[in-house]
Amino acid sequence: MSHRPANAITLFDGTSLDGWRQVDGQAAIWEIADGCMTVTSGNIVSAEQFTDAWVHVEWREPDMPDKTGQAKGNSGVFLQGRYEIQVLDSYGWEVPGLGDCGAIYNQFAPLVNVCKPAREWQTYDLIFRAARVDDSGQVLSQARVTVLQNDQVIHNNVELLGPTGGALDEDLGQPGPLLLQDHGDLVSYRNIWLVHLPQQGSDTYDPH
Ligand code: MG
Repeated sequence: MSHRPANAITLFDGTSLDGWRQVDGQAAIWEIADGCMTVTSGNIVSAEQFTDAWVHVEWREPDMPDKTGQAKGNSGVFLQGRYEIQVLDSYGWEVPGLGDCGAIYNQFAPLVNVCKPAREWQTYDLIFRAARVDDSGQVLSQARVTVLQNDQVIHNNVELLGPTGGALDEDLGQPGPLLLQDHGDLVSYRNIWLVHLPQQGSDTYDPH
């Protein structure tokens, strides 16, 4: 799944934060070195906005052997700035919970724990279907997501309950950015891209 399609849009190629800013609109100031960026100061959001999309992210946990739980390499990837897929050092836990790595934060625990140890690069492939909202603002269906971590399925098309804690907004019918969370730990990211997905295919059986 980490094979990159030809129509993918690069959000971060390891050399520049041009496609990112802080939530308040100021320039993003995360440190870039060795082809990756590391949490430095503040959450950052992509300039690219999306509705339905396949998002690919690679990240690496710092080694924090003296820390536990939410203090051990905490960050997060927020789809549309609204739905956090947790990033944490949860290596080795047999039954990961609602706050562990891979969780849709405080909504759904990952089906299995496929985390690698700190200092090893890991991947998320997030197959995201945005909420459907009618013209009056009524939510017709909540967002759905399938998550692969390190090429293994950890969420199977779950319907989210709504935005997770820390969401940028609740305008569920609007496109949103990718947000990377500053939780005070030195988590690194690289090779971030997305593919915009059409919201539906043809409704014709044989249009040829
Ligand atoms: Mg987090």
